[in-house]
Formats: sequence, structure tokens, C-alpha cells
Amino acid sequence: MLIVFLGAPGAGKGTQAKTLAAEKNLTHLATGDLLRAEVAAGSELGLAAKAFMDRGDLVPDDVMIGMIQGRLESPRSDGILLDGFPRTVAQAQALDDALSAADTSVDRSIYFEVSEDELVRRLAGRSTCPDCQRAYHDTFNPPQNADKCDDCDEGLIRREDDKPEAVRNRLKVYETQTTPVLDHYRNAGKLVQVDGEQSIDAVQSDLAAAVG
Ligand code: ADP
Ligand code: ADP
Ligand code: ZN
Repeated sequence: MLIVFLGAPGAGKGTQAKTLAAEKNLTHLATGDLLRAEVAAGSELGLAAKAFMDRGDLVPDDVMIGMIQGRLESPRSDGILLDGFPRTVAQAQALDDALSAADTSVDRSIYFEVSEDELVRRLAGRSTCPDCQRAYHDTFNPPQNADKCDDCDEGLIRREDDKPEAVRNRLKVYETQTTPVLDHYRNAGKLVQVDGEQSIDAVQSDLAAAVG
């Protein structure tokens, strides 16, 4: 099974991906998480990507496509959940090509629909575990102990790109570069829309129905 999560920054993709991947035994491939690990490790790729990420711009397609190829085989799970990829039509096309070369394809693409006002509220209050990348929210989804991850006990951080200026740019970049990806999957008859503005639990149950 290969599932793609689509939606603006802050739509709740990462939050839902962690639960769904655990439930369905899927490998959760989150390109943002993979990039932040490269930055933390100080690798060449991380150094090249950091400036794009801090500004809220997309990392170039060739880098992203190279990063995802080779991770598409998942012998130790029942499938893959792609979270944060593809973000451009060129990435979507490259994904289709890589999958069709392996005689497979995307099964379903889930679009989390959330209004811009709500996205801004979510990103402004988001904190993240630097260890497992789980996201929390100051009011909508606080950790059990202030500023500590429930799973790792690690101190939570605010992402550089969750600052207002980078957020504004990320939403603009999403609008211009990523919304065309919705049509890519809509035209292929693979797009399922979920109302992402509901509570975390309500989104989770709609998602379970959408994935089947
Ligand atoms: P969010 O979940 O808040 O939308 P991510 O953690 O998915 O953000 O991504 C963080 C940053 O990493 C993006 O703003 C972008 O710079 C980079 N990035 C992640 N995935 C991609 C991708 N598929 N293509 C280009 N850049 C990406
Ligand atoms: P994405 O991966 O799409 O960028 P996240 O899963 O990181 O989004 O969620 C963004 C922020 O919104 C986080 O602070 C998270 O705790 C919070 N959040 C996620 N889903 C919901 C929801 N359904 N209702 C309210 N807040 C949510
Ligand atoms: Zn953690």
C-alpha cells in the first residue's frame, strides 16, 4: 500500500501520519523530518538544504527526488506513507515514474483541507520534539509535562520556519507550487479529501474510513 498525504504546512499531516503508520504498519517517510536529520548531522545535503528550509522555500526537486528514490522499497512493513512529498508536479511525476518502473503506483492521496486562519493558529503554537519529530500545540495539543515530549522526555523546540515571516512564505509557496499537485492526483482519480479542520480524533476516524 502506498499512501500520499497532501495539505498545507500545519494541516496536521505529521500528527495523523504517526498514528496511521503505527496502526497500519506503514513506513512513515516524512521528507521534512529526513531533511532536519541531515541538517542536525551537518551533512553536505543538510548544509545545502538549510537555507531553503529556514526561509520556507522548497529544497530543489533533484535533491528531493534523489532523497526519496531508494527509500520506496519497504520490505519490513506493509507499505509506505509519504508525508511532505511530492510538493511539486515534477516530484509527483518522478514518483509515478519510479513506482511504475517497479510495477506499482500510488494507491490513494489524502488531502487535508484546512483554512488559512487555522493554519496560522496551528503553526504559531506548534512545538516539536527534536528527537522523534512529534508535534505539539500550546493549546490544541499540549504535552503532558510542560515543554517535554510525552514519548522521549526530550525538551521541545520551536522550529525556525514556524516564525511568522517564514510561515507567510511557506503558505505562499504551498499555494503556488504544491496546490497543482492536488490536480495531478484528482485527475488520476486518486484524491480523497478529508476535513482537516476538525479535532485530531475526528480527523483520525475520517482518515481511517478514507484509507479503508
Ligand atoms: P510542514 O510539515 O510544516 O509542512 P515539513 O516538515 O514537511 O513542513 O517541511 C519543512 C521544510 O522542508 C519545507 O518548508 C521545505 O523547505 C523542506 N521540504 C520538505 N519536503 C520537501 C519537498 N518534498 N520538496 C521540497 N522541499 C521540502
Ligand atoms: P503538518 O505536518 O501538516 O505541518 P502537524 O501535524 O505538525 O502539521 O500539525 C501542526 C500543528 O497543529 C501542531 O502544533 C499540531 O499539534 C496541531 N494540530 C494537528 N492536528 C490538529 C487538529 N486536528 N486540531 C488542532 N490542532 C492540530
Ligand atoms: Zn519525542
